[in-house]
Amino acid sequence: MSQDNPDKIAAVEKVISQKYGDEAVQNPHSNWDENKEKEYIEQMKGLYAKVKTSEEQQEKIDINGIKVSKKLFNRESLRSCSVCRNFPTKSLDDVCLTKFDCCNHCYIKYVEDREERWLKGWRPNN
Ligand SMILES: [Zn+2]
Repeated sequence: MSQDNPDKIAAVEKVISQKYGDEAVQNPHSNWDENKEKEYIEQMKGLYAKVKTSEEQQEKIDINGIKVSKKLFNRESLRSCSVCRNFPTKSLDDVCLTKFDCCNHCYIKYVEDREERWLKGWRPNN
């Protein structure tokens, strides 16, 4: 704890005082024993775990500008078209994604009747 940051020290003292009473602040060493130290560490661990969990739950992915909770997606449905980056919206998209790594729209636009070129690795953006 830095002595040249009195605001921070005051804030920490306030938290300790709310938690353990004024005595702890007035004379930390007299009332601060190993059990309290342990309790404090456990509480910090619990707090950290809580924060971490809520961060994971709030983790969002951006799909065409719409934020969607990541846990709504399993790995398979996270696949998007390698050309236009759209996510499959109909079963035909899924079929094309599995076979050609692109959505049905891009299949019709770039792959249909030119499957050989596509399978050789040609892509519209390179
Ligand atoms: Zn596409």
